[in-house]
Amino acid sequence: MSKNILVLPGDGIGQEIVAEAVKVLACLRDDYGLDIDMDEALIGGVAYDAAGHPLPEATLNLAKEADAMLLGAVGGPKWEPLDISVRPEKGLLGLRKELGLFANLRPAILYPQLADASTLRPEVVSGLDIMIVRELTGGIYFGQPRGVRVLESGEKEGFNTLVYRESEVDRIVRVAMDIAMKRNKRVCSVDKANVLECTEMWREVAVKVGADYPEVELSHMYVDNAAMQLVRAPKQFDVMVTTNMFGDILSDCASMLTGSIGMLPSASLDEHGKGMYEPIHGSAPDIAGQGVANPLATILSVAMMLRYSLDEDNMAERVERAVNKTLDQGLRTPDIYSKGTQKVGTEAMGDAVVAALREG
Ligand code: NAD
Repeated sequence: MSKNILVLPGDGIGQEIVAEAVKVLACLRDDYGLDIDMDEALIGGVAYDAAGHPLPEATLNLAKEADAMLLGAVGGPKWEPLDISVRPEKGLLGLRKELGLFANLRPAILYPQLADASTLRPEVVSGLDIMIVRELTGGIYFGQPRGVRVLESGEKEGFNTLVYRESEVDRIVRVAMDIAMKRNKRVCSVDKANVLECTEMWREVAVKVGADYPEVELSHMYVDNAAMQLVRAPKQFDVMVTTNMFGDILSDCASMLTGSIGMLPSASLDEHGKGMYEPIHGSAPDIAGQGVANPLATILSVAMMLRYSLDEDNMAERVERAVNKTLDQGLRTPDIYSKGTQKVGTEAMGDAVVAALREG
């Protein structure tokens, strides 16, 4: 039975980069027999403009029916003055929550062709291949109570709540363990167990889950140390697993080890492998509409979709090989350009990947 892919371009460069990733999916369908249907829907600021809400019901219904979703990005200055409840980012958070996409997988891989793009010395980052597994639907970003209250003194006080259930920790640590089993069998669980009771419990649960995976070496690290180690000696890590907020920060830090935000894909999975796939970057309003955005993170998100939701590892490898080949040919969008390479725009980069894909 054919798999249904919902395409959600969103705002800013989302439109441009998703168009290139769709070309890749269409090539796999037409040339290699990938059995998919594609639908498209609105999310984010463009959805607010068209339907008055960043996550219209029609989009949510299509998302519920889809086997996987491909998202560009949401947000932009045009929608910043809106009330927080209808800002574009709410559409994305709502979709994650509604679909129970609790596991965010963010690989940080340094392509050897781009070793010069990192701000760290090549010997520190060359060969880097980390997978950060971030809990996505719990923790302080969703915990209640939250808000800002006015004290008797008249001073305002802001508050948020860090809360995790054992079951939430258990399932995210299991995702990390399963991934580690297919990699180098090492998981580092990142917490702040010395200060936060909630993450002390996180550590206890991680240890319990770890006992079910005797082949995996489980270690623990405080988040402040983990941030330092990521820039000091990042290659010590294989899989890292952590809370929503710590993962948000650490994965952005890890992404910059690789030099370009335009190269890194991500996946957000539910308990059954259904997932939303998106580049880690945002809608880049500063370059939107110029045809210069790097589409490779979105194209590599298609590879993750093939691997994690469509069970098509061979096709995933095909896409990754095509991206590598395109980089080998010296083609670079401006964000990854260096002297001696050939600067190209979004569309030319997408076309080159499709051409490499066709060649096999
Ligand atoms: P951003 O990731 O959009 O941009 C940061 C910098 O990276 C910019 O200079 C941009 O030009 C560059 N960049 C990003 N993607 C690129 C690509 N593919 N090719 C080349 N250069 C690229 O982050 P920001 O500027 O902080 O946020 C812009 C908007 O995006 C905001 O509204 C923010 O809320 C939103 N945002 C959305 C998501 C998402 O949809 N998942 C994630 C982060 C930010």
